[in-house]
Amino acid sequence: MKKLFQLLGFALLLLIAVLAYKTLTFPSKQISVAPAEAIKLSKGFENRLKDAIKIPTISRLTTIDTAAFEAFNLFLDSQFVLIDTTLEKTVVNKYSRYYYWPGRNPMLKPILLMGHHDVVPVEPEALDKWTVEPYSGATKDGYIWGRGALDDKLCVIGLLEAIELLLKRDYQPERGIYLAFGHDEEVSGTGASSIAAQLEDKGVELEYVLDEGFFIVENVLPGISSPIAIIGLAEKGYLTLDLSVTHDGGHSSMPKKQTAVGIISKAITALEANPFPGTIEGATKELFEYAGPEMSFPFNVVMANLWLFQAPLKGILSSKSTTNATIRTTTAATIIDGGLQDNIIPTQASATINFRLKPGDTIEEVIQYVKETINDERIEIQARSNKRNASKLSDSDAFGFKIIQSTIMETFPESIVTPGLVVGGTDSRYFESLADNVYRFLPTYLRNGDVERIHGIDERILVEDYKNLIIFYTRLIKNSTN
Ligand SMILES: [Zn+2]
Repeated sequence: MKKLFQLLGFALLLLIAVLAYKTLTFPSKQISVAPAEAIKLSKGFENRLKDAIKIPTISRLTTIDTAAFEAFNLFLDSQFVLIDTTLEKTVVNKYSRYYYWPGRNPMLKPILLMGHHDVVPVEPEALDKWTVEPYSGATKDGYIWGRGALDDKLCVIGLLEAIELLLKRDYQPERGIYLAFGHDEEVSGTGASSIAAQLEDKGVELEYVLDEGFFIVENVLPGISSPIAIIGLAEKGYLTLDLSVTHDGGHSSMPKKQTAVGIISKAITALEANPFPGTIEGATKELFEYAGPEMSFPFNVVMANLWLFQAPLKGILSSKSTTNATIRTTTAATIIDGGLQDNIIPTQASATINFRLKPGDTIEEVIQYVKETINDERIEIQARSNKRNASKLSDSDAFGFKIIQSTIMETFPESIVTPGLVVGGTDSRYFESLADNVYRFLPTYLRNGDVERIHGIDERILVEDYKNLIIFYTRLIKNSTN
């Protein structure tokens, strides 16, 4: 017995030694940079963003407000005079556009910086809940308020401000720069996909692409007090399945054991009860490799020893919808339909389920999993056409990532940088064939409550944060193209 305790004690000591060794040798992936040259913006730098917000370029599924988009086109052309006269501009699908600023060295692959100038509508019921009128572009309490302040007019106007500033200083890039601004990202992305097709026809090869995606966030990971700037290395795929069943109808006074409504409901319950398997890999794994060494005890021990703690970590990540979405293909029942009147048994019922595919899970595999989980031949499964697999994984060792990382450290030195998986979709996916590396990072803080403000009520950005966004883009262009 004593021997057994001795053996157990030894095993425990060994385990502690291994955990400690792994933790102490867990290498930091953060970099330090020399202080960058200060960039001073002229007074009123925020005015053009405010004016851009005033033009309601709203994306709706069925109609397009042509007057608003035409006004926005005119606004861009008249406001950024140096860009309009120096860069090559191409208008695509009437309201999207791209610019090209040739570099001095044609041997260097150009970069592509992106944004979109359409915005989602404001729900009429929510209108009176706004602190200011949503298309006023008003400044109040140090914020610029309105639709597009965070998603995504600040990128479009911020990028143009950065380039106009560099042109004013007679800056000439070594490497060419493309800017691409889509007009319908929120509904379909036809603008961006047409721009990508045109560049592909021209044989353009890009060094890297940067689009919206993650932000700088605070208090999202335990054991880290610094803000975290997350650079999206990949984005999830998209699949919508329509489930339908035809079953016996009749009088509701003599129902059979199950109705069409019951059959469909059971299928949804089965899907919700059997989530797709979760894994910590790809961009999500890299997030922990970058964040782990910066965490305090005992979180750093867990991150350094994922060989042991993978299962409990997955459990913790699964418990919150935000982190759950980063480790698995998610299942969301979004529409249910069936029945007409309370005393008629319907002959038909249907449900719509939206899946966001984790990299590695293909559309075919997801459909197969759904079939097996529902396990009911009576249910017909139809995939909608707007489906796509997840993007490829961009390289965190490549030039583009390193430049974005060092520019973040120059502009937001208080933060740490990590890769991550974007759970929504961006226009950047159309450019995958043009570049080995596509990154998704919007260079500003997502402050307390801002997640709900995007597509929600009281969208706004701190004037100070917007200033730093312009400075980030200015430095990024210089760092990428010197
Ligand atoms: Zn957006």
